[in-house]
Amino acid sequence: MTVLQDSGADRESAPLLQLADVVKSYRIGGEQVRALDGISLEPTGGQFVSIVGPSGAGKSSLLHILGALDTPDSGSIRYVGREIGDFDDNARARFRRREVGFVFQFFNLMPTLSAWENVAIPTMLDGVPLRTAKVRALALLDRVGLGHRARHRPNELSGGQMQRVAIARALLMEPRLILADEPTGNLDSKTGTSIMELLTDVAHDEHTSRSVVMVTHNYEAALSTDRIIRLADGMLGSDEPTASAIAKAGK
Ligand code: ADP
Repeated sequence: MTVLQDSGADRESAPLLQLADVVKSYRIGGEQVRALDGISLEPTGGQFVSIVGPSGAGKSSLLHILGALDTPDSGSIRYVGREIGDFDDNARARFRRREVGFVFQFFNLMPTLSAWENVAIPTMLDGVPLRTAKVRALALLDRVGLGHRARHRPNELSGGQMQRVAIARALLMEPRLILADEPTGNLDSKTGTSIMELLTDVAHDEHTSRSVVMVTHNYEAALSTDRIIRLADGMLGSDEPTASAIAKAGK
């Protein structure tokens, strides 16, 4: 299921995402603020990447640009070799719906819908028949350990369970990119750890070559990912594998 028309071989050989010299500014009053000041990076398939940095460093701006929720002023973003800036509005919307899964700090579930209905929403918007969407949603809830809560509404679930529903929803269209904005920010540390384990599992799924990119203030959570990118004043401070990733690669 893809928005792109490349052959399978092209998709295999091109890097998942390539950002080159991305600049994004905002005008506040008369003043120009550079949220991103020449960012180049390449999240790799099969990797869990965290982006850390102080408030105002540009983390959210970067995540929005990675997910085509916003456009840069200049620079290039290629998704499996295709320039996202060249997509028309329809292609951008399809890219967001099919190629990217979003996970948010406050889960963003619809309160009146059950867990499986929340998971199934993206496919229903995409014209998939309800019965097919339901089967897929139930299988994904099983995968995130919530098969037994499929008919519960969000207010009958714990924070960790709501985040699991949100992760199942993000996986529904089988995207190769998952973007997570402070996914553990509203959870206690034990529940946060279990969500990090689930996201690690999602990134390391050997059948998909998927990349999970997470923005976080939680440095301890970032240490459990494969790679930490530090942002400061819209610039890349460092981009390094974590000790756990180095240890794993050495095995
Ligand atoms: P972070 O997520 O690291 O806190 P942001 O990407 O939200 O950083 O913000 C980076 C800079 O860009 C900040 O100075 C912020 O005030 C500014 N900024 C972000 N979004 C907007 C916006 N929509 N309008 C104006 N300024 C913005």
